[in-house]
Amino acid sequence: MTYSLAIVVPAYNEAQVIDDFHARIAAVLDGLDADARVIYIDDGSRDETWPLIERIAQADARVVALRLSRNFGKEAAMTAGLDAADADAVVVIDADLQDPPELIPTLIARWREGFDVVYATRGERDGETRFKKFTSAAFYRVMERVADTPLPRDTGDFRLLSRRAVEALHGLRERQRFMKGLFAWIGYRQTSVVYHRDARHAGTTKWNYWRLGNLAVEGITSFSTAPLRIATWLGVSAAGLAFLYGVWVLLKVCIWGDPVRGYPTLLVVILFLGGAQLLALGVIGEYIGRTYAESKRRPIYYVESRRGAPSSPDRYPRPRAPGVD
Ligand code: UDP
Ligand code: MG
Repeated sequence: MTYSLAIVVPAYNEAQVIDDFHARIAAVLDGLDADARVIYIDDGSRDETWPLIERIAQADARVVALRLSRNFGKEAAMTAGLDAADADAVVVIDADLQDPPELIPTLIARWREGFDVVYATRGERDGETRFKKFTSAAFYRVMERVADTPLPRDTGDFRLLSRRAVEALHGLRERQRFMKGLFAWIGYRQTSVVYHRDARHAGTTKWNYWRLGNLAVEGITSFSTAPLRIATWLGVSAAGLAFLYGVWVLLKVCIWGDPVRGYPTLLVVILFLGGAQLLALGVIGEYIGRTYAESKRRPIYYVESRRGAPSSPDRYPRPRAPGVD
């Protein structure tokens, strides 16, 4: 059976690696019996990435290239690629060669066994600092505890999706897109393939700790209301302790009388409660901000230009999402 395959590649300032990447992915696709497409999404790069992608698209008829109107972030760029992917199976892969394209045939083999989501789990990671490994491990453990849908551990965005999994993702148009969570949330038959994650081929990571931290908050708040629950319990226990302490103070006054003392206790209690209140407010604010952003219902991205045509435009027709040209 021949099938169609689309490779979705988000790229932001990847001029240094994009040619090498294409050479490697093209070699892999040559060895497959698939009707394959590579969909590059230039996420508003400021370097030479887009001209390079245009040149690749000219030279290779399998390439479809989209340029977003600005940098919308990887999650939006992936969504743009998934929206454009009209194939039986869709692979999402990073442009920096950290995800080995040579693993794609293995992913396809699992898909042909009947799995809908085949994600690649990194066994070892080169070129990452200890601190990064530690924080990333901690994040997955926390997510596992608080989220309603468990996330597969140590898994990036590198994965293969079946047609119905892609269709399911089309239905999730939320603006705050934590894709790893969404991939897991849709369900269906999921499995993993272990691989060795290489260091970045060239160029630098687009994720500093500020962005990673924000992504972590995004992941937790998009998939769990546990922080709100924790704030509630914090409030309840603080109030309970305060009540017990109040009774104790009252008894003390009644029994021994009370010269003016207790200034340090007072200060500690006030500071603690003030801190706890601000924290709880911040948590609530986080969720309100999310609701606000969703309520505006803005499109997830805009496409500025496009090169190359999808294999057969009406293979999987669907209503167009607003903002997609
Ligand atoms: N990326 C993107 N938009 C962004 C940031 C990153 O499309 O705003 C792409 C980037 O070009 C790469 C992938 O997302 O193909 C992963 O980015 P990166 O390698 O910087 O992340 P890391 O591997 O360090 O998690
Ligand atoms: Mg990378």
